[in-house]
Amino acid sequence: MTSRDLEFSTVANIFEKLESTTKRTDMVIYLIELFKKTPATVIDKVIYLMMGKLYPDWMGMPELGIGERLLIRAISIATGFSEKVVEREFKRVGDLGKAVENLKMRRRQTSLITFFGTAMEAKLTVSKVYETLDKIAKAQGPGSQDLKVKLLSGLLHDASPKEAKYIVRIVEGRLRLGVADATIMDALAIYYGRAKETRQIIEKAYNITSDLGYVAKILASEGLDALKKIRIQVGRPIRPMLAERLSSPQEILMKTGGKTLVECKYDGERAQIHKRGDEIIIFSRRLENITRQYPDVQEYARKCIKAREAIVEGEIVAIDPETGEFRPFQELMHRKRKHDIHVAVKEYPVVVLLFDLLYCDGEEYLDKPMLERHKKLKEIIEETENFKLAQHIITDNPEELEEFFLSCVEQGCEGVVAKAIHSNAIYQAGARGWLWIKYKRDYKSEMIDTVDLVVVGAFYGRGRRAGTYGALLAAAYDPETDTFKTVCKVGSGFTDEELAKMPEIFKNLIIDHKHPRVDSKMKADVWFIPEVVMEVIGAEITLSPLHTCGWGKLKPNAGLAIRFPRFIRWRPDKKPEDATTVKEIIEMYRKQLKRVG
Ligand code: ATP
Repeated sequence: MTSRDLEFSTVANIFEKLESTTKRTDMVIYLIELFKKTPATVIDKVIYLMMGKLYPDWMGMPELGIGERLLIRAISIATGFSEKVVEREFKRVGDLGKAVENLKMRRRQTSLITFFGTAMEAKLTVSKVYETLDKIAKAQGPGSQDLKVKLLSGLLHDASPKEAKYIVRIVEGRLRLGVADATIMDALAIYYGRAKETRQIIEKAYNITSDLGYVAKILASEGLDALKKIRIQVGRPIRPMLAERLSSPQEILMKTGGKTLVECKYDGERAQIHKRGDEIIIFSRRLENITRQYPDVQEYARKCIKAREAIVEGEIVAIDPETGEFRPFQELMHRKRKHDIHVAVKEYPVVVLLFDLLYCDGEEYLDKPMLERHKKLKEIIEETENFKLAQHIITDNPEELEEFFLSCVEQGCEGVVAKAIHSNAIYQAGARGWLWIKYKRDYKSEMIDTVDLVVVGAFYGRGRRAGTYGALLAAAYDPETDTFKTVCKVGSGFTDEELAKMPEIFKNLIIDHKHPRVDSKMKADVWFIPEVVMEVIGAEITLSPLHTCGWGKLKPNAGLAIRFPRFIRWRPDKKPEDATTVKEIIEMYRKQLKRVG
């Protein structure tokens, strides 16, 4: 070993100390002790190993992932005990790390007796451990299992009992030292800090590189000034900004300082989209590389981002291609589970709603105020149906904010995100702060029963449904006023046959104005005499600023809507006055009300 390396035993000793405490101050002391002994050449490796990894997740490098059976075999070879004995010890202590430690200790004692002190172990270094684990992770294809066992058993053979325990835990993905990123940064700042603002500089570098090993290495080998010079790089994810939470428009406007940008809070998957020429990389909220799951988003981004290099953020949301409506978050999860990505893309189409710009053609936007980022985002995006800016308003009026909130909920969104627009409203990478405030609905009312609704109008179809109706405007009956009050637009659940027959069914009911007994704020493309009844089920009932069912009964300026309604069947046996009543829908809403989030 040279001074360019570090004995792995030093690392294992510190791991043991870290494991024995939950106090952050103690952890910082142990980490400083470790950094003191760690040469700059291997500090990145020490940090990755401490996190139980070989690389940051976003690099998408192969993971260690060795199954229990192979591990047992490797331990057996390394210790000379049979697999049965290894298994028995594993069962007894319930942890393979502890099991290998015990077995190695037992072997040490017997070999001392047998060989009188023959050293069975070689001195392991951090580089040796890291490089061997890296080879294990990268071994692929035929014969790779045997190679993995050979490499691991060799390493465990050379390791001391304690070292073996930690190596096995790393390999198993069970090294849980409980050291947070922030604690590592604290220790780096104290040990390497000469300036007061060291901690901030480290954090900023981490926020834009998402790689603590890399940051530590630059700091240890080139110093603080080099760290200051780190720039945003396309292809390296930026740690996302997160929102605080409040539950009233008044509080939100006070906290954000009056005028505020309010955006729909879409219920999908957050995406940080990087563009370099034609190359597109997409990172998730947890900064995993999800590019391959979204060939469609790659295509949109390539076409619609009018900059050579850019990093933008948005939400990927599943939609119903026929009605253009958002689909619940679960649909995206179904898409992820499909093996054939091209089938998934067809079955679960998505749209991207963009809400921020972090970098564009050499210029960093993190420290620029929200409106400037938003303006530039608008400038470089050529909006299409599938790739556009998030719906938003700018307001200082609590009523307007509330109305926008309700319209977002009604569209299937979780609520809104209000964003401060004063001159200090920067993008706080990696932080949850008050510059972004989410205002989510508190309650959700799941729908269990079907309802019978009256068709009062229709909307023309598009795509495959061109030439027929794409969705029907449906209403509940209000016996008090003898009117029909709208509650949803139904576009799902129809078979192709039913769709084709629709113009025929409604042919004789078309009128050129809204029927006097229909109470609707929505403007249908075609109005009908209220006559046809259909059975419908939805996912939930929500407050809505668009539908008149139960208007003002639960909240001023809001009615009720059925979210994600699906047609079940026609009910020719029912007259429109036999439809589910407004009162019944209000009751259903109240009965199923549950707190969310
Ligand atoms: P939540 O469970 O509320 O989504 P979270 O911890 O995942 O919480 P938050 O910071 O609380 O994240 O909320 C912000 C999240 O909302 C973002 O990560 C993003 O995925 C999503 N989102 C949807 N629409 C927007 C928008 N217009 N602006 C910012 N974030 C949005």
